This record gives sequence, C-alpha cells and structure tokens, in this order.
Amino acid sequence: MPLIARMQRGCIALSLLCFAIPIYSQSGEAPRPVFAWSNSSMSPDERATLVLKEMTLDEKITLLHGTGHHGLGPMSPLSAGANGGAGYVVGISRLGIPGIQMSDAAYGVRSSGENGRYSTALPCNLAAAATWDLHGAYEYGALIGRELRAQGFNMSLGGGVNLTREPRNGRNFEYLGEDPILAGRLVGQLIRGTQDQHMIGDIKHYALNNQETGRNAVNVNIDERSMRETDLLAFEIGIRDGNPAGVMCSYNRVNGEYACDNNYLLTDVLKQDWKFPGFVLSDWGAAHSIAKASAAGMDHEEPNEYFYGDALKKAVKSGQVPMSQVDDHVHRILRAMFATGVIDDPPQKSVVDVMSGFETAQRISEQSMVLLKNDKDQLPLDASRVKSIAIIGGHADVGMISGGGSAQVDPPGGNAIMPPGKRATKWGVPVWFPTSPLKAIRAKAPNAKVEFNAGDDLDSAAAAAKSADVAIVFAWRAESEGSDAPNLSLPGNQDALIAKVAAANPNTVVVLETGNPVLMPWIGQVNAVLEAWFAGSSGDKALANILFGDVNPSGKLPITFPKREADLPHLTIEKPAPGSMPRPGDREAWRKALEGLPAFQTKYDEGLKVGYKWYDAERTPVLFPFGYGLSYTTYSYSDLKVAQGENLTATFTVKNTGNRAGTEMPKSTPACLRAQANRRNVWWGGRR
Ligand code: BGC
Repeated sequence: MPLIARMQRGCIALSLLCFAIPIYSQSGEAPRPVFAWSNSSMSPDERATLVLKEMTLDEKITLLHGTGHHGLGPMSPLSAGANGGAGYVVGISRLGIPGIQMSDAAYGVRSSGENGRYSTALPCNLAAAATWDLHGAYEYGALIGRELRAQGFNMSLGGGVNLTREPRNGRNFEYLGEDPILAGRLVGQLIRGTQDQHMIGDIKHYALNNQETGRNAVNVNIDERSMRETDLLAFEIGIRDGNPAGVMCSYNRVNGEYACDNNYLLTDVLKQDWKFPGFVLSDWGAAHSIAKASAAGMDHEEPNEYFYGDALKKAVKSGQVPMSQVDDHVHRILRAMFATGVIDDPPQKSVVDVMSGFETAQRISEQSMVLLKNDKDQLPLDASRVKSIAIIGGHADVGMISGGGSAQVDPPGGNAIMPPGKRATKWGVPVWFPTSPLKAIRAKAPNAKVEFNAGDDLDSAAAAAKSADVAIVFAWRAESEGSDAPNLSLPGNQDALIAKVAAANPNTVVVLETGNPVLMPWIGQVNAVLEAWFAGSSGDKALANILFGDVNPSGKLPITFPKREADLPHLTIEKPAPGSMPRPGDREAWRKALEGLPAFQTKYDEGLKVGYKWYDAERTPVLFPFGYGLSYTTYSYSDLKVAQGENLTATFTVKNTGNRAGTEMPKSTPACLRAQANRRNVWWGGRR
C-alpha cells in the first residue's frame, strides 16, 4: 500500500480516538462529545485504559489530588469549578472526563446552609443500624444518592463503618455499631443504594479509626487476626456487598504506619486479598508522603496537593515513583467513574424531593427507635385517656438534636436553638433540628394538657411532673467528629433531673437522643425508656407515632449499653502528650503536621472481643445487650430446625401473638459459636 494511503488510514483511526464528534440529543441539550471510550458496552477497565493512553503526565497528576477545602487552608484557583462540597477534583475536559464533585453525606448531604440548598437529614447511621434492615439501608443510601445528584455532586463521602470498639468515640453515630457482620452488610446496601444513583460511593475510615482523641497521631497496636476478624471484616463485607468505588484511608497509624502509608492495609489486604478495583483517597489531611504512600497503594490525596501535586510530578521525573504506579492510581479513578456511571449519566441539578425525603426519614426513624424498658405497659400512651403530659428538658419544645462534624446536615431554617442570624451550623456547636416533640405530642393528644418545662430548675421540673398524669423527660448528648465523650454519662444535670422527675411522678418516660450508649443510674426509678438516637428531619413525628402506639417499636440495639464505665475494655481513652498536637485553627502547624506527628500508643489488647464479645467473654452483666429491644406486641418462636450442609441453616416460625401489628427482627446466636467467645457472630433473618 502506498505510504500516503496508509497514513490517511492511520489519521482516520487516530481522529476517531482523539477528537470528539459532537452528537446532538433529541432533547436539544448541549452536545455530548463522543470518544472511543464513550462506548458503554466496553468494560470500565477497557474504557479507563483507552483514556489513560491519551493522558499527559500533568493530566494524570490532576486526577490525583483535590483543590482545597474551606477552613483547611487556601483553596486553589482551580477550585473555581467546585460545587461547594468537601472536595473537588478538576476533570480533563479535552477527554470528556468530568471533575469529581465530592460531598460529605453520612446521614444526608452536607453544607446545605452554605450552599443555599435543602437536604433531608435521615436518622443517624447508628439509628439505621438499629433497624437491622437491609432494604431500609438501601433506601437510605438511595435517598442520599438522589439528593447528591440533584445538588450537582457525583461522589459521596458517606459509608462510615468503623466498629464501635470505643463507646465514647464521638463519631459512633456515623457508624453502624459493634458487630462486623451487621455493620458490613448494612453499609454494603447503603453504598449500593447510593451508587445505583450513578454516584461514586465511598467506604471509610480505613481502618481502626476508633477514637477521635489525637486521631492524627495515635498508633493502634493490634494483632493481625484480631483486625481481620473485627474491624477489617466490616470493611471486607461492605466492599464485597456494596462494591464502593472509593475507600478513604484514615488519619491514624496502624502498627506503626499511617493508614494512608500502610502497605499491609492498602495493598496486601485491600487490593490483593480483597481484589478491590477502585481507588483509595486520603481522609482530609491524612496523606503523609509521596513515594511511600504511592507504593503502599494510596491513589489520591485530599483535600490538597502537598504530596500528589508538583511534588509527585518531580518524583516521577526523578524515577522515585514509577510511572506504572501513577498509571495504576489514575486507572483506578477513571475505572471508578465509568463503573459508577458518572461519565455516562452525569448529575442533573434539580429540585430535591423534599416530601418523599421526609417520608423516608420518618419511616426509617420509626423502625430505628429502641424501646429499652416498658414496665407496667407505660407505653404506648392512650390519647383518649391521658389528661395531662409534662414534657421536660432536651429543648423538646423546639427540636431534637443531631450529630455534628463533617456528618452534619443543616436543618431548614437553621439551628432551632441558636440565636437568629447565625450561620446554619457552626463546627462544634450542637444543632437541634426544628422538629418539636412538644408539638407532635400535642397533635396526638389534642384533648390533653401538654406543657413544657425546660428542666433547668429541678424543683420546677419536679412540680411540673407531679401535676401531670405522665412525665416525659428528653435527655440528650451531643456527639461530633473531632472529640470523644469524656465519659458515658449524660452531660449536665440530666441524670439528676430524671431522678427528680421520676421521684415526683411514677409514670415517667425517658426519651434518649444520643449517638452512643449512656449510663442510666436512674433506670430503676422510671417506667419506660425509649432510645430515639439522632432522629433526623422527621424525628418528631416518628417519636409521637411510637409513643402513642401508631407504630410498634421494633428497633434492636446495634451496640451494647454497659452498666458501668469500669466494665469497658479500656478504662480511659489514650491521649497524646500535652502540647504535642497543633492547636485547632493553627493552619501553619497543621500544615507541618502533614509530615507526621509524634505517635502515641493505644493497644487493642481486647483483640477479637469487640462489643458484646467482650462482655460475654468477661461474663460482665450489661445494662442492655446488643440486639435488645422491646415491643408493644408479643411473638412466639417455634419449629426450630437446623440443617447442616456447607452452611448451617436455621429455620423457625415467628408468630405475632399480641393484638397489634408489629415487625420483628429474629436473630440467633448459635450456642456452638457462643461457647467460643472469640468467634461468636450473630445471624439475623431480616425483618418480619
Ligand atoms: C472526615 C471525613 C470527611 C472529610 C471531608 C474529615 O475530617 O474525617 O469523614 O469525609 O473530613 O469533610
């Protein structure tokens, strides 16, 4: 063939690969360029390989880092295209690769206040775990995915699944409890729900980030078997079931190496054993090196480019970091974008479906509330008989508290107990959703006298309780990223308040709004206790439906409530040496801390015995065990049959023997495993 003819053919082939051909959609939308990799019948890997071949080193580096974060240092000029989320990665428009718009989205989409948008607040993640409901977890994730899309994001930073090893950890409300199977299966469904909305999903914080105290410096010492069968098992199951495109490596060290520098965690376990095909992104400021992190398997740095920007480029040019590693990082990110559909079906800004969000939040909240005590059938309240109700404490006249930190969802209208004019939410300031239990209870019992007492003055609260048929005390504890609780007690004078009210009124009900277990020194004095968690956008209605029996309580504890702090595996949380951590807000010191902070040690010598396994093994009585939760109706269990094949299959009949409709969550703990406390795990048969 003559040379010129061969060249022409080559050019035609090349132009198909390299140049976009605009095609017009029937709807008249802007043309979407077509590239060789636009063909969605190819696998995400094939498509990623085609794009990668066309990329320059600068373009590759662009995909490997964020562009800044408000409050965490200067924003890059490149962040001009950001959508107001926690992270923004600039896309490669010449190749049709969109930017990655990341938003925190633990129990709803974050930053609504700053961005002038609306987001539904679902009940907190721990509440979702109390439903033990896989379908509900999928719905939970799907709602978040839909609202992210409507707001123009294409990546969720939800998917927290750190186990409740430490019940004082300020972020437990963002996680799914203490059992790796429960937590892993639920987070898997949650991630599936989100990613099915064509969103890049995420699971975090990998791994063993079980305390907030000194999280950037702590070194977790744990043996391999223990981590694989506890905390890592939750991630393994979540990744298997949910197939998240992103894994966020955590702030802490594990066995001497920072998690984002940790070859064992990122490569040996995640990428080799579990064959994770997605990408590892650092938690915000959790990256600490270039060559080490790259070799260990960290694919992407957030929120800045201290390591994976120009410094990485230099390291590639000098041969310190092989190009094959950079290509692998980029391939994983591109693959994730194709696999989740964010390239084929980019987000379309639209109006969030507020009404259906309220309904979903209410349904999940109703399923999540756990009735811990109900002596003398105190609950449900009978609206036709009760004449007066004293509502005491917890700002229950105006709202219900929510979980803080990067999980915080902004309530419509701002914080219900902050002075007007302040920002929707402020880091470290507890936020009350404007969901008033007082109003919801008044609506249920229109003929009763329902009065509120703030509970600040114990005598006045006792007098209010005494003059009513029923007293309902609302007790709360604020929880947030960045700090742990000093102990397991309710803060302030709440224990004294409950005791005083209970002494004044024999029909006292306590409603807890907490994201962790709390001690209950007054438990013997009150008739009923309902754990409502952080109940989200429709918590008031859900609560009233449970209190008045329109909905049967069916939540079961995903965490153990111990009797005493002395019963925990660790009496106290290890702390960094005084003065060794940068002061909050000292940006320069935090920037320097990226090079690493002096480590302090914590030893997980309870090993495999996380949560209930600890109390079982130690034969320590607890206040309320994992899996516990009462109901207004009764159930009988019969016809238990156990078939042993490759798997052990237990079948049994559950019958509602009471006179109200209810939902039960049958679960079993095989005695053969229970005998070996280390290996005990729980099965459950879905909600019935
Ligand atoms: C948190 C992450 C969060 C990130 C971005 C970090 O401080 O640990 O969970 O996704 O900030 O806001």
